[in-house]
Amino acid sequence: MAIERGNVIIVERGRRKERLPGSGLLEGMAVVWRHWQGSFRKNRSFSQIHGTFTLEYPEERPKLPEAYRNMPILLYDEETGHELCTSCFQCQRICPPQVIHMTQAKDPATGKPVPAVAEFVIEYDACMSCGFCAEVCPFDAIKMDHEFELSTADHGSLTVAKEQLNRPIGYYERIAPTMWAEVREQALKKLQGNIKRRPGVLGMAPNLAEKIAARLRELATTAPVEAAPTTPPGPSAPAGRLSPEEKAARLAAIRARNDAAPADAPPPPAPAGARDGHGEPAPSDVPPAVNPADAKAARLAAIRARNAARAQEQAPPEPPAPPASRARTDEPEG
Ligand code: SF4
Ligand code: SF4
Repeated sequence: MAIERGNVIIVERGRRKERLPGSGLLEGMAVVWRHWQGSFRKNRSFSQIHGTFTLEYPEERPKLPEAYRNMPILLYDEETGHELCTSCFQCQRICPPQVIHMTQAKDPATGKPVPAVAEFVIEYDACMSCGFCAEVCPFDAIKMDHEFELSTADHGSLTVAKEQLNRPIGYYERIAPTMWAEVREQALKKLQGNIKRRPGVLGMAPNLAEKIAARLRELATTAPVEAAPTTPPGPSAPAGRLSPEEKAARLAAIRARNDAAPADAPPPPAPAGARDGHGEPAPSDVPPAVNPADAKAARLAAIRARNAARAQEQAPPEPPAPPASRARTDEPEG
């Protein structure tokens, strides 16, 4: 019986190149030799990424490219002492591991928020150096530093506050001249606009104590601005809109209500007949989902408490009090 095999394609292979025995071994050894003797060649132009070279670290250090990024820093203008950050919260929102925490500065006279940051904390130990915060910042206030020698045995010191994050613009200009030149004009223009909206010393770098003190003295010597005449409430406000006094009263009432509400108050019971997202009756004893804003606030409060405790620990011990003089009494005994 004949078997159908279909089409058969026969491939004619050429004759294999004859190789001397041991030639493969010799070729491998030649490669090893080339790399081994190349490792003794000094390469001092660290700009190239090919080739083998050894740095005698820490005496020798590579010249890092401008776009190298490690940890974020905040910039301030050394001319005026003002920080570029306006507390717009963009970097806090975009940070993937949520390690940026901040609060916005408020005008102490009016209680209104101003374009300046009051507190700014980054948890360096959880930062992944993605650079998203620097990419998204519309004011070029946060940039990526080149510093990489951050190892420490003190884990708590990696939660870094504004005082340690602040760098003058000149510092960033030195490490990334081309990148800063591209944004310099716009960044300084925006800063000038924001400075006009910052009363007093709000938005000034806290580590510029001298400049801040000089600014305070300057403010004290300038004549106080006359208060604007207050408009009588009620009739002067356009119909349907609240007058400034009414707005202030409403804001005060909201603040009072918020202050009066205990932070650990139990959640209100679910109304009768309430249903959850799956159509099931909502149990009144199920804890509500944690609000991300509350979680952030709790995290910032924990960081504050930890920093305060650390500052207390590191404070020099108080000198022993002089022995108290014996109290004199003129009253007769008995
Ligand atoms: S570099 Fe990335 S992880 Fe680090 S603070 Fe910025 S956004 Fe967050
Ligand atoms: S660093 Fe930039 S993005 Fe972050 S709050 Fe300040 S101005 Fe906004």
